[in-house]
Formats: sequence, structure tokens, C-alpha cells
Amino acid sequence: MPTHAKRKITRRIYVGNVPIGGGAPIAVQSMTNTDTRNVSSTIDQIDRLSEAGCEIVRLAIPDKEAATAFKEIKATVKIPLIADIHFDHRLALAALDAGADGLRINPGNIGSEKAVTKVVKVAGKLKVPIRIGVNAGSLQKDVLLKHGHPSPEAMVESALIHVKILESLGFDLIKISLKSSNVMNTIRAYELLSEEVDYPLHLGVTEAGTLISGTVKSAIGIGYLLASGIGDTFRVSLTRDPVDEVKVAYEILRALDLRHRGPEIISCPTCGRCEINLFDLVEKVEKALSGIEASPKVAIMGCVVNGPGEAKQADIGVAGGKGHGILFKKGEVMRKVPEHELAEILISEVKKLVN
Ligand code: SF4
Repeated sequence: MPTHAKRKITRRIYVGNVPIGGGAPIAVQSMTNTDTRNVSSTIDQIDRLSEAGCEIVRLAIPDKEAATAFKEIKATVKIPLIADIHFDHRLALAALDAGADGLRINPGNIGSEKAVTKVVKVAGKLKVPIRIGVNAGSLQKDVLLKHGHPSPEAMVESALIHVKILESLGFDLIKISLKSSNVMNTIRAYELLSEEVDYPLHLGVTEAGTLISGTVKSAIGIGYLLASGIGDTFRVSLTRDPVDEVKVAYEILRALDLRHRGPEIISCPTCGRCEINLFDLVEKVEKALSGIEASPKVAIMGCVVNGPGEAKQADIGVAGGKGHGILFKKGEVMRKVPEHELAEILISEVKKLVN
């Protein structure tokens, strides 16, 4: 069995019905990138995220119109929604009134003390948690001046300032994130913060980038922290369809053996020994199985050198030959299948197994 550091046990909060912290499964989040004011396209994206296994969705609420749309969206979808608000406490109040399951605000930047108190009191009464989201790119001026640059220490100091504001108002349904686009700074910041507080932590590497660079940065930053026992929920951020963020999130959790969702496809890179079109086969199988929640192991291997070994250890496997593949099921050789039928047969065998 792989060894992880013991998970740090944080306080438990709930975002809607999703438990965060206190030993709960690490929750997967994402954020819509539609215009929140476009209710139908936002609902459509939330539904797709939910189908992919996303457990909490965050929406940007930049103005009054978006807050009105948020109410309509909240009334339609079942998944917990977090309202992301900057600068205007009235939008936070509108989101709470609309039934937001969580707020992402920085209490120090949503208005006067009176305004902050108002929002925090309503959130407390409704038991709606607040995520303090410190971002290296938008650190408050005084902290930045003191540290000279958005160092991990500066990010932690900023987070603790916001935490104190909430605590002084008797509010403790707190979750904290410290995001930087620099992976090493992100890791260090969360490590420092984790020593200071026992509030649940929301992990993320911000502005992570495209599918390849964003996946690598997130897998290293978030993966390292999770493997160290730090973090209770996270969002992978990618410059593309957020459904891919959810897919990457589950692959990170799977690699760390923390959570498993969806079939695990093991495939070889191919080499000069491969005599079937493996790329095409893997793509077809992956696409056809993408909606499945169960997590069988499916091995798709190019030849008989390593193929049978991997295929035998999988729930379903195939090892390619010349114009055909040998099908394995639970370690047993089933039969020889012509190449043109391989995709269809593999897909139907996996579906049979999970049903
Ligand atoms: S399984 Fe066969 S085809 Fe695939 S990489 Fe290994 S040797 Fe090459």
C-alpha cells in the first residue's frame, strides 16, 4: 500500500450537503466560465459539471444582474453553489438571499465594517460558510508593502487578517485558500497556514494554464499537499471547459489512492512492436466510458510483451497482436477478437461488468 502522511484533521463545515474537513472525503470543486447572467448556458454547464462528478460549483457574481440570475440558477440545480464576490457587500447579501450554499469573499475588501458585519451576521444565521480566498496577484497593499512581494508569508498574513475579522464577529464557518500561479509558493503558503489554523483548506494553483501545463502544475501543487495530508477540498484551474478540471481532479485523487471515480484506463505508449491502431482504440474506449462512475481497471496494451501481464491484472484487458487483440477478463484469457471489433467488445464488456 502507498503511504501518505496522516491527514491533518480540520474542523468540519458543510457547503450545502457536502461535508468539508474533519476527515470527510476530499471534495471536488469547479467554477463556471459562462456569463452568470446567461441563466440557461450556466445551468447547462453546471449540469455537465455535476454529471462529471463535480460536487460544488462556484459562480462569479460581478453585478446585480448576475445576482438575480444566481437566484434563478440556484432554484433549478441541485448541486451546492458558491457565490464568488468582490468589493460589493450588497451582492453578498443578494447571494445569501438567493440561497447560496457558500460565499467566497475577502471580508477586508467588501466594504465598511458595518457592511461586513451585516454580511457575516446573515451568513452565520443561515449557517453558510465563507471561503477567504487570498490570491498572490491581488494581495492587500499594506501586507504587500511590508513583505515587498507576494511571498508565502505575505499570503498567510493576509489570510489571517481576514480570519480575524470573521472571528471577531463570532463567525467560524471558515474555509481558506491561498492561491498563487507559482507552484512552490503555493505549497509553502499552505504548509505555513496549516500550522497556524485548523480551518478546512481549499487547495488550488491559480491561473494554472492550458490542459498540459495546468494539469502538471495542479498535479504537483495540489498532489504534493494532499500527499502531505494537507487540504480538504480543491479546484484544478484550467483555461478550458471546466468539465476537464473535474476529470483532472479525479485523476489526481486516483493517483494518490484517495478517491476513485470512473474507469482507470491503463494503456501503453506503443512502440515498434505494436501492430494495432492503439491510439484510436484508447480514444474510442475512453470516450464511451466517460460517464461511468464505477472504477474498473481497463488495460489496453499494444502487444504481447507487456500486454498480457497488465491485461491480466486489470478487470478487463486487451493485448494487441497482428490485426487482432486477446481479450482478458479478471485475469483469464477470454478470446481472440479481430481489430475492427475490439473497441465495441471492450466497451460492452466493461459496461457488463459495472452493471
Ligand atoms: S506493450 Fe508492447 S507495444 Fe506497448 S509499449 Fe510495451 S512493448 Fe511496445
